[in-house]
This record gives sequence, C-alpha cells and structure tokens, in this order.
Amino acid sequence: MLPFQDARKLVIRQTTPHILSHPRQASKKNLADALGDALAQEIRSDRDYPPFDRSTRDGYAVRSVEASEGATLRCAGEIKAGDTVTQPFVPGACIQIMTGAAVPAGADAVVMIEFTERTGDNVTFQRATSQGQNIVKKGSEAHSGDLALRPGIRLGFAELALAAQVGAAELLCARRPRVAILSTGDEVVPITEQPGPFHIRNSNSVSLAAQVRLVGGEPVSLGNALDRTDDLGAKIELGLNEDILVLSGGVSMGKYDLVETVLKSLGAEFYFDAVAIRPGKPAVFGRCRDTFVFGLPGNPVSTMVTFQLFVTPAIDVLGGARPRPLPLLEANLTKTLHEKPGLTHFLPAHFEWTGISPEVCPLSWQGSGDIAALTRANCFIVVPADRQDIPAGEKVSVLPRLDVI
Ligand code: AMP
Ligand code: MG
Repeated sequence: MLPFQDARKLVIRQTTPHILSHPRQASKKNLADALGDALAQEIRSDRDYPPFDRSTRDGYAVRSVEASEGATLRCAGEIKAGDTVTQPFVPGACIQIMTGAAVPAGADAVVMIEFTERTGDNVTFQRATSQGQNIVKKGSEAHSGDLALRPGIRLGFAELALAAQVGAAELLCARRPRVAILSTGDEVVPITEQPGPFHIRNSNSVSLAAQVRLVGGEPVSLGNALDRTDDLGAKIELGLNEDILVLSGGVSMGKYDLVETVLKSLGAEFYFDAVAIRPGKPAVFGRCRDTFVFGLPGNPVSTMVTFQLFVTPAIDVLGGARPRPLPLLEANLTKTLHEKPGLTHFLPAHFEWTGISPEVCPLSWQGSGDIAALTRANCFIVVPADRQDIPAGEKVSVLPRLDVI
C-alpha cells in the first residue's frame, strides 16, 4: 500500500501540470486583505535597502582609527533617526547617533553607548573599535530594482512587511481555489437540526471548511448527500463546477460506501484509493473532468488528518503557490507507545517545550471518531509503519496541527 509521503507526491505531481496549463486569474488586493494569498506578480525593490548607511545602535559615530581603547573625543553634535544628514563627518571628533539614523559620510563605525563614558562634551572609549561595526551599509539588504518577492510565494507577515517596505500597497494575488465540500451519510444531519437518537451532526463540513480557509482555499459548502447513488451523483455534479471537490465518508468497504462507484460512473480516474496510514487508510484521490476529487474517510479525525496530508498540497498548487512541506518536528516521547505495525499511525498528542528540549505526550483517545481528544491535542505523533514499540525518551516525529501551532 502507498506510503503517505508517496501519496503526497502524487497529489503534487498530478496537480502541477494542471496549474501550468490553466493559469490562475488574479486580482489586486490591499495588503491588509492579502494574508495567506499566493502572490501573482513580481515585486521589486523601489530603492536601495537600507536607503542610507544605517546605525544599528544608540552610541557615537566615529572614525574607527580615532576611537581606540582609552581614547577621548569631543562630541560635536547629534543625529536622530529621520534627520537629514548632509554634513560630512569632521575628523577628530565624534557625533552622538541614535538607532536607525544615517551615519554621516566619513564616519566608519558606531560605538555602543554602553562602551563609552561621557564627561561634559568628552567621550572616552572603553574598547577597541573596528571598522564598519554597528553600521548596515546602504544597499546591503537589497539594491534598487532587485526582486523582492517572486510570484507563487505565500503572503505571510514577513512578505507583507517587505511589500509595505518597498511601497507596494496593493498586490496582485492569485484567485483562491474553490473547494466544494460534500459530506455523505444517511446518519448525518445539519448542525441546525435536532439529531434523532441514531443521527450525528455534520461536524465534518465545519472542520473541512475551516481547514480549507486555513490553507488558502475558498470553501463552497454543498451540505450532505444520502448514501444513495442518485442523491450522491446529483450533489457530486455540483461539486464538479469547482477546482477541488472534497467528500467525507462513503469510501470504506461497507455496502453503502458509494463514493468511488458514483465518481467512476461520472468519469473519474483515480490516482490512489488507499494509503498506508491510520487513521485515514481508505482516502481516495482522483480527477473527474476538470476537478480534482478527494474522498476522505468520514470519521472526523481521519477526515482532519487526511485533509492536512493530501488536500493541503493540492490547494497550494492549484492556488498558484509552491506546495508547503509537511512541517514535521522532532520531540522526546514522554510515554511508551505500542502500536500495530504495517501502517503509519498518527496519534493525537500534546507537544510542549518547557525544559531544555521539546517533549510530546500521546493522549488517550477512543479512535478516529473522538473529536474531543483532538481538542486536547495540538499535534499528531507520527509512528512509522515498521515500529511496534517506541520507548519513552526516544525522539519521534510530530506533525503539528496547523491551526494551533
Ligand atoms: P464512513 O467513512 O462513511 O464510514 O463514516 C464513518 C463514521 O464517521 C460514521 O459512522 C460517522 O460516525 C462519522 N461521520 C461520517 N460523516 C460525518 C460527518 N459529516 N460529520 C461527523 N461525523 C461523520
Ligand atoms: Mg458513511
């Protein structure tokens, strides 16, 4: 059976040619609205950065050869951040300077105020001074015209700050992929309805929409389909108008698990229909007409895990962004684990870093229907398929829940 890493690669390999042949539409957005979007243009530096030789400390601008250990120089003035600095530096003196201010031409170092002693206008230097210290030279971060942000980058807080720095107040952003969400099951009722004694509320549609939004897609809710070919077929048809269709439930071996059969009757081809993981083994990925389709198992934790593993890279690629890597961490296991071999297990766990190294504690849970356990977890421990017992103290891989870590 397919290891989850290979299944992810298949998702990336199948979606990438599609985005190359169907370039995304794009629209201008204000920086304030662009968090999480994929950039669809080049952004270039409008000038050199820093735009002037910038002091990185509060202290004194000097000629380094004159500010040797024990030397005293007269302070001839001061420069604040934002001051216009046109006068060249007069040798034989120093100038008080603030962090972020321009270093005058002729000075070649800034001495931190902490390493000086001042009496009246006289400043004595307590340490040797080296050329260039505490100065970031004009243009050393970027030159005017340099590429600042390339198309396909996902806009996070640093990218938005860089756009702001170079004066790009609006950015051309790729249209977010539209992701249709369709749950299935005769037992599933809308969350606004009172469930009968053997019904359950449709929590998957809620968690899936949240996950879609979190990774940069636009959810399109299609409600729930009954476990009947006619209802399922009609609602899948609606989903085929979107970039991606994500179904929950109906992909296991039960008599009423009809998702694959109905998709096939509508012309779908499948790239995988099982992955060597638990929870989430029956996950399906394929394509039906121009829409990529995921059939995720219906147990809520299975749905969440398989979304993070397989749907996230599809949303990245189809949204015009580079697929993000799986953000695996490493931590010391605090409790011995016993798992059955053969499948990679994803176990709800709590990751914490209070001592000298990160630790992860597996949580007790009732299996993949246990949403409450997941709310106490902030990650999954990834137990490799070939490991049965992992003793406490050993390092294990940890997959963070993207929304809380
Ligand atoms: P299935 O994958 O269709 O066999 O579903 C497995 C189990 O997941 C069902 O028995 C339900 O308990 C649960 N389940 C299925 N769909 C949903 C849903 N939309 N919301 C919450 N739980 C669900
Ligand atoms: Mg079902």
